[in-house]
Amino acid sequence: MSVAEAVDWAAAELPTSLANRIDTDGDCWLWTAGTNAGGYAQARHHGKVRRVHIVVYELLVGDVPEGLELDHACANKRCVRPHPEHVNACTHQENTRRHYARAATCKRGHPWTEANTYRRPSTGRRECRGCNREKQAGRRS
Ligand SMILES: [Zn+2]
Ligand SMILES: [Zn+2]
Repeated sequence: MSVAEAVDWAAAELPTSLANRIDTDGDCWLWTAGTNAGGYAQARHHGKVRRVHIVVYELLVGDVPEGLELDHACANKRCVRPHPEHVNACTHQENTRRHYARAATCKRGHPWTEANTYRRPSTGRRECRGCNREKQAGRRS
């Protein structure tokens, strides 16, 4: 079963040690505990330090098929939700392609540079400063 075909999974099916640390209120399942240096959700699972989105995927969906890797379609590294729009398995090539496509610009064409990117601390979602500025300017006029 591919993630694309699958309907949805409930975080309730996860061991409480994991479920207790995941905030499923929003669209993304946000890992509320530690992350690794790259910003990915990380936890000790069966004595090993693992990336949580991979552990959750394995528990709810199954092993990541050989040759595929997990991609965050929602671009939220703290998200651990197995879902086509969140964590899903794709080829390394596709992952890299998506990564660059996402890395280039926001939907209004502002570059996703470090200086132009704001990450909302409560959700970990990135926002475009250029768009935020335009929204504010629109409100004032
Ligand atoms: Zn997500
Ligand atoms: Zn923008």
